[in-house]
Amino acid sequence: MSQRRTEEGDLKAFQELIHVDGNGCHEYMGGLASNGYGIFQAGGKSVLAHIYAWELVNGPVPEGMVIRHSCDNKACVNAMDSLGGFEGHLVLGSQQDNMDDKVRRDRICRNPRKLVRVSPAERDAMVKLSREGATYYRIGKTLGRDQLTVKRAILSYGKLAA
Ligand SMILES: [Zn+2]
Repeated sequence: MSQRRTEEGDLKAFQELIHVDGNGCHEYMGGLASNGYGIFQAGGKSVLAHIYAWELVNGPVPEGMVIRHSCDNKACVNAMDSLGGFEGHLVLGSQQDNMDDKVRRDRICRNPRKLVRVSPAERDAMVKLSREGATYYRIGKTLGRDQLTVKRAILSYGKLAA
């Protein structure tokens, strides 16, 4: 089971962890670091999910540069506009740009992403319904949760079971 995934396997696993929301953000559904950035396992190593996404499209991040979020959503991994644009929400910038972003962000005080915790019993119920063929949407309706919460809970369960 601990066999290392191929690069294609990594990519496929990554794509399965993306939830496209109404703002065009590609919300990363995998684990998050305490600073809010997504963490992905690629090539047997933990990497930052947004950097992984950006590098898939653009190649390695140039030295001394950082990847910024134009959407201010740290869990977003939208490296390319799905409608055929070029940049997506991840943009290359300098360390200074990144500092400026942080100052601006603290000033406007955005709503942090809502991370809803579900109990183990509730998650088991979600997994059970999912195995019976219910969609995330349907399960959410049944249990009074939103679709994203359901998806996150079920994916995290898969990870624990693996
Ligand atoms: Zn975004």
